[in-house]
Order: sequence, then C-alpha cells, then structure tokens
Amino acid sequence: MAMIPPAANARADAYFEGGYWLILWGFLYGTVVSLLLLQLRWSAKMRDLAERITRFRWLQTTIYWVQYLLLTTVLGFPLEYYQNYVREHKYGLATQTFGPWMGDEGKSLLLGLVLGGIIVVALFAIIRKLPNTWWIWGSVATMAFMVVTVAIGPVYLQPIFNKINRLDDPKVTVPILRMAHANGIPTNDVYEIDASRQTTRMSANVSGFGGTMRITMNDNLLRRGSLEEIQAVMGHEMGHYVLNHIPNFMMFLFILVVVSFAYLRWGIAWALKRWGERWQIRDIGDPAVLPLVMLLGGVLFFVLTPVTNTETRRQEKEADMFGLNAARRPDGFAQAAIHLGEYRKMRPGPIEEILFFDHPSGFDRIHSAMLWKGENLELFEKPAAQPAAH
Ligand SMILES: [Zn+2]
Repeated sequence: MAMIPPAANARADAYFEGGYWLILWGFLYGTVVSLLLLQLRWSAKMRDLAERITRFRWLQTTIYWVQYLLLTTVLGFPLEYYQNYVREHKYGLATQTFGPWMGDEGKSLLLGLVLGGIIVVALFAIIRKLPNTWWIWGSVATMAFMVVTVAIGPVYLQPIFNKINRLDDPKVTVPILRMAHANGIPTNDVYEIDASRQTTRMSANVSGFGGTMRITMNDNLLRRGSLEEIQAVMGHEMGHYVLNHIPNFMMFLFILVVVSFAYLRWGIAWALKRWGERWQIRDIGDPAVLPLVMLLGGVLFFVLTPVTNTETRRQEKEADMFGLNAARRPDGFAQAAIHLGEYRKMRPGPIEEILFFDHPSGFDRIHSAMLWKGENLELFEKPAAQPAAH
C-alpha cells in the first residue's frame, strides 16, 4: 500500500466516493423524470398516440415503449453525459472522444429499444392474460429472458461495442491454460477484448451461460500487467467460473425478481387507486403505467443497493481465495489490487465497505495475499542446495 503515491490515492478516493453520491443523484433524477411523465400526463399522451396509430395491442405497447425510451433517454442525458463522459475524462479513465462515445450511446439505445421492447411487450401480454397471477409468470418470463440475454452476451452483444479475439501469445496463454485445465475448465482459448477503446481500466471477467461461458481479459491488463499479475487475475476469474458464480447470481436475481414483482403488484394497485385518474392510467395492463413501474422499482433497488453489493462482494471474496490457491501468485495479486486502486478506494471504513463495495477493498485483497504468502512460504524459498551424494 505504501507503494501508492498519496496524490493518486486521494484522486482514486475522490472518484470512488463521488460514485456514492451518484447512486443518490441517479435515484433522485430517475424519480423526478418518472414523476414528470406521470404528473404532466406525458405517459398517457404517448399511450393515446400509440392507440391512434394501431389497434393491435402488442404494437401499441411497442410504440409506447419506443416513445418512452427515447423521451427518458433525452431527459436523462445530462446526468449520463456528466457521469460517463465528463467525469470519466476528468479522472483520466476515459479514452474516447465525444463522437465515438456518442456512437456507443446510440448503440446502447438501439439495443434497449429491441431487447427492452421484447420483454416489455411480453410482460404486458402476461399482465392482461393473467391479471391475478401475472407477477409469478412475469417473474418466470423475466428470468428466462435474462438467461437468454446473458447466454448470447459474449457472442452477439459484446461484439457490437468491442472486438474480441483469441489471444495468440504462448508466453501468456500457456500458463493460463495449464491453470484452467488443472482446475477442470475445459477450454483451449483465452479471449482478449479491446477495452482500451473506452477506458484505461485494467480488468477481466467471466461472461456467458452454459455453452457460451468464458473468461475474457482486457487489453489494458494484458499491456500493463506483469505476467504474474495476469495469472493472479485469471486465477480469480477462474474462481468465478469453477464456483458457478453466474448461475448462482441468477438464482439470487430470481429471488430479487419475485420479491420485486410482488412489491410492484401491491405498490401499483395502491398508487393507481390514489392517483390513477389524475395520471389518466386505466389499470396495470395499460402501458402508460410504465413510469410508475420505474419509479417504484427505482425506490426498491435504491434501498437494496447494500444487499446486492454484499452478495456480489461475497462472490468476489470467494473468487479471490480461489484465485490465490489456483494461481499461487500472491505478489501478482497484490500488484493487481494496487492497479485496481486507480479507480477504487483502497481502504474504506467497515460500514462504507458493506454499503458501497461490490468487491473486497484493495486493503483486504493485499492483506489476504500477504497472509496466503506467509502461510505458504515454502513455495517461494529458493530450493536449498542438494546435499552432496554420498
Ligand atoms: Zn471478480
């Protein structure tokens, strides 16, 4: 930790702590946008327009969704621009100029129109067909949709934004593949993504589901990390893979989705009884209800932030310990923690860690690595000279 210059430390702390406030501002901003759409009856007007264009209900929902997403994207743009462009540049984490950044924003919007359109149309169809039990079937449909999206992610979605290649550098891949095979991961490929197109952050991840599950490292890690560091990070990622963290997290999300839908079922009925007439929303099967769904959902997820962070952090800690054991590169792991400290606070207080950290802190990671090394010193001592044969 003493290796990090204090100024760099202060900068990373400021960046990370700013992120705490952005959670609050994002929540408040979203709430105000939803309230505007409801109170000014813009939502009802968008629905009326959709109904004038077509009599097919699924098409009405689609047209409503397109209007809704375009309008909220425009209204949300100032915060989006500050958070993901201005602020990232201010802290030296962004590599894109405005044009390419807007290009990526446009792609995200198109993806939102298509993927969001599919799930929104499906959910409203379920609500209208099954007005009493929709929240159960809606949860099942949402979950199925999420599984499919995660499964197609690395193959069809990520390539929309970045180039992903098989890495062809035996110096890097051979030790990684040996580690993978030793830990029961049946692959002969290491993937690399050109994340430097958007950011200076070093990272790697596990993505996909079932047949598409894979580990990818980004080119910043490849370029700036030492071999030892790369192996330590890949050991961590293999932990996510071997410990089935993606399917486990899906189960956690499933519980969250069922709870959210039960809460929405109750919350929407309550709100519509009081303000439905004023907002000109007929019932829960009316697409104009969407801003209310986002408003209520926003409140729930804001309150649940520490819960979702804690579940993620728990998995990350598991992957840390797996990675130390699999890669046996405690110094590389500590080095990686220092590199990640470029955009994460190294030493938070205990409450701060519980509320805001979705990974163990840098301090925790370095401490674990040194503890591991201390208990495995025999791996690092120079082999003693062989006693001469008699
Ligand atoms: Zn991880």
